[in-house]
Amino acid sequence: MDLKTTSKGLHWEPAERVKKLPPYLFAEIDRQKRELIKQGKKVIDLGVGDPDIPTPGFIIDALAQAARDPSNHRYALDAGMPLFRESIANWFQRRFSVKLDPAKEILPLIGSKEGIAHLPLAVVNPGDVVLVPDPGYPVYKSSTWFAGGEVVLMPLLDQNDFLPDLDAIPQDKLAKAKLMFLNYPNNPTSAVAGLDFFKKAVEFARRHKILIAHDAAYSEFAYDGQKAPSIFEVEGAQEVAVEFHSLSKTFNMTGWRVGFAAGNPEVIALLGKIKSNIDSGIFQAIQLAGKKALDDGHAAWQDNLLTYQKRRDLLVDGFNRMGWTIKKPKSTFYCWIPVPPGYTSAELVMHFLNAMNIVVTPGNGFGPNGEGYFRISLTVPETHIAEALLRIGASPKR
Ligand SMILES: *Cc1c(COP(=O)(O)O)cnc(C)c1O
Repeated sequence: MDLKTTSKGLHWEPAERVKKLPPYLFAEIDRQKRELIKQGKKVIDLGVGDPDIPTPGFIIDALAQAARDPSNHRYALDAGMPLFRESIANWFQRRFSVKLDPAKEILPLIGSKEGIAHLPLAVVNPGDVVLVPDPGYPVYKSSTWFAGGEVVLMPLLDQNDFLPDLDAIPQDKLAKAKLMFLNYPNNPTSAVAGLDFFKKAVEFARRHKILIAHDAAYSEFAYDGQKAPSIFEVEGAQEVAVEFHSLSKTFNMTGWRVGFAAGNPEVIALLGKIKSNIDSGIFQAIQLAGKKALDDGHAAWQDNLLTYQKRRDLLVDGFNRMGWTIKKPKSTFYCWIPVPPGYTSAELVMHFLNAMNIVVTPGNGFGPNGEGYFRISLTVPETHIAEALLRIGASPKR
């Protein structure tokens, strides 16, 4: 055996773009969590944003049926099955009253993360600026770096309802800006953007010749009878924006890897060109199951939403009965909570882990403006939330 590595590791240097990636911030929490479990501790994990509820049965049935059909065993079309694209267009029309051309304005993705990660390769040159929300989903930064772009952070602050202040972006950076990531309903802050904000953003993008990439992975999560808008509800947005959608969270399909990009046809074509050089489409059986989810998933989605809303109420009411003052999130399955005085985000997270065996996510893992917050995910059963509240109530604050 002649593997060309030494005991010290590789005999060559990793690529600069990989070395530039920050260390995985949650790795240490993960390690400590596993250590506690090994010691026999009953750890409650409120950290991961991954639905605990199974994928609805009718979607699994659609997959099973399609998987048995040999015509689905070949390479899929790069651009996705016309049947699936039409189903997406119909869903979009029903949900947002927005008309999309299924041939040119829709591109199925291997999960929306895949499209978000590949988009900068299609539109960003080395030295271009990409505007990224802070705190935000880490992929916006890494995909920018992979394309040689410069990340410029847009702070999301409570006093601005966690919307970026577009007028505060430095002029010299703005002049070099090519792309702006937005994400509403927002992970991690759970903020929702209204049409008035999207209108402003579209106008801004047109004025400064910037493409908007709106990550709408949580578009179907809005509680108390509200609905989150698509950026395409703004007149003319299709000229300056693409929007990323995901079936992962809406239909409990995170492991299935299916989502789609919609919007500006030139950008959709460019992203498709990048993808056709990297992947060879989505397994057709998954596309057909995705079609089933969009066509017939309304009731399942409503059930889900009620489940999360009940968990949210249990958690927030529980915290507030113990003297915290937390606002109920209007959307997503996250609670974005200020850490109590005397703690940094990291210290609070370690306190929860070691004193109460509860995993929560430190806000600073999402960017510098996440410092001072921690994130709780509602992707666990009510019994776990109730037990977590008992432990928090029984633990001295410091
Ligand atoms: C979960 C998540 C995604 C990725 O979803 P997939 O479709 O599973 O890749 C994208 N953006 C945000 C903000 C998310 O939280």
